[in-house]
Amino acid sequence: MADAMATLRFCAWCPNLCRSAWPDGAPQREASTPSALSALTLMLAERRVAPDASIAAALGDTAMAEACRAACPYGYDIPAAVAAVAGAAHAG
Ligand code: SF4
Repeated sequence: MADAMATLRFCAWCPNLCRSAWPDGAPQREASTPSALSALTLMLAERRVAPDASIAAALGDTAMAEACRAACPYGYDIPAAVAAVAGAAHAG
């Protein structure tokens, strides 16, 4: 859990260096970039946003983070970190 939080804190401030893995012509949704998902997950874990349906839907939109995972130069697995931290936040 601590490792996942550290990963999210780093990724939230990264300028999406992995974005090149997102296919040309695919919709670019800033709210679903890896760094955006990381930032939102941190807000959830730190109770700065309430765990409602809109947050769950936003964090479930992991297509871009999945596509970009292999291109992260730091080797981070953001979908896994989001799932670990958001799952704990929803449970607790
Ligand atoms: S997954 Fe890696 S490259 Fe992509 S935004 Fe996060 S830290 Fe940056």
